[in-house]
Amino acid sequence: MNINMEGRIIDEKKIEAVLAATRSPSSQVILKILKKAREKKGLELKEAGYLINLKEKALREELFVAAGWVKNEIYGERLVFFAPLYISNYCINDCEYCNFHTVNNQLQRKKLTLKEIEEQVKVLIDMGHKRVLLECGEDPKRNNIEYVVEAIKRIYSVRTNKGNIRRVNVNIAATTVSNYRKLKKANIGTYQLFQETYHRLTYSRLHSGPKADYERQLTAHSRAHAADLDDLGIGALFGLYDWRFEVLALISHAQYLDRILKVGPHTISVPRFQAAPTVIFKPQYSVSDNDFLKLIAILRIAVPYTGIIISTRESPLIRKRAFQIGVSQASAGSCVTIGGYGRKDSQPQFKIHDSRPLEEVIKQVVSDGFLPSFCTACYRRGRTGKEFMELSKGGEIHKFCRANAILTFAEYLEDFSANGLREQGRALLKVYLEKIENLYLRQETQKRLLKISSGRRDLYF
Ligand code: SAM
Ligand code: SF4
Repeated sequence: MNINMEGRIIDEKKIEAVLAATRSPSSQVILKILKKAREKKGLELKEAGYLINLKEKALREELFVAAGWVKNEIYGERLVFFAPLYISNYCINDCEYCNFHTVNNQLQRKKLTLKEIEEQVKVLIDMGHKRVLLECGEDPKRNNIEYVVEAIKRIYSVRTNKGNIRRVNVNIAATTVSNYRKLKKANIGTYQLFQETYHRLTYSRLHSGPKADYERQLTAHSRAHAADLDDLGIGALFGLYDWRFEVLALISHAQYLDRILKVGPHTISVPRFQAAPTVIFKPQYSVSDNDFLKLIAILRIAVPYTGIIISTRESPLIRKRAFQIGVSQASAGSCVTIGGYGRKDSQPQFKIHDSRPLEEVIKQVVSDGFLPSFCTACYRRGRTGKEFMELSKGGEIHKFCRANAILTFAEYLEDFSANGLREQGRALLKVYLEKIENLYLRQETQKRLLKISSGRRDLYF
């Protein structure tokens, strides 16, 4: 499939022209765009270009306020938590930025057995997680689709007295429609794949191996969609090329998916390049903290319906700020080595900057007034793809999000939290319960909270 040949997904010349044409926006133009942002309909590339080029500190603060407002309108105050699970670091690609690249012969290569996967999952469940993001390198022999499917099945099968994993999202190499069908059959949540950089020349400089095929990467979401996977995640690895270009490319990609597949991206991930043991790549385009926060805010406004994901690559301070300006999902308590949960060995894929345990992260976000969520309701209720988008675009999804966040956080408080957090958490639940406007939904949530306190689990709308 070569559907990008005529630049239908990413038109580099157009993106560069937009960046040049929007170089010096007036305050008036910015304020007009921020006013439009509050209509929650997204932005044109040119409008996003103006925001990218804004320089005044006061206007940047206005942008942050508008982005935080949009996030709240769409998703409410909830923040969904998950953990990555790396099952194999075998990889035949040589991505210059990644420690798992095939040229790394100092790395002890490891592929988890199903039994080892089970052990890792037990650790994650006993931490409080309900959502996992499965990750592995590309190796058609060792990490073939059958192995990935068996791994997913095993993850879903594990139960401890603290519960089970209820949603497995997947971040594996671009593949064929028939392989995506197998993922669909295995009942995955979101299929995520990052373009890394949308800039062709940079892409070809940084990759070799099958992933070096830019088109294969860019068109993967269409193949996944053809296999009926309709919750799709996109992303760029910031630091590989100019962040301004990548932001407009991400928006173009989102608009393409929305226009052609009628389903925009379920999530946008914003990983930032981090140092890694054998990686000698030095980013020429490293993104400052200020620009990083700015780009999150712009994405939130430009693609209001999407989930924005931040990982533990970022420090607690940056994450705290990012939560206020548009991020709606975050990993926590993460380990980016193979089989590293509950152990301290093996080389990571890259350095992480938030190594706090899940409970500590939860404490912090509760103190900041957010509602932690372990919700997995939408895909289990069939609210995926178009159906999810309609609710999200219509500003209706937060009604489900709030009630389900309350129920899943109540479970967390019962099963995992110690005194202190438990009291603080219960007080927060009360506040948000009162905010459920629909009387029936509020009463029903209240009833379910009672059931949870008497031992029932996994209640959702
Ligand atoms: N191997 C698959 C792939 O490349 O698509 C699966 C996921 S890979 C384990 C997850 C992501 O980690 C990559 O898509 C890349 O964006 C990110 N990554 C790789 N090296 C990184 C680094 N040094 N710093 C931050 N993120 C990195
Ligand atoms: Fe392999 Fe993915 Fe790392 Fe590239 S980013 S070397 S494909 S694990």
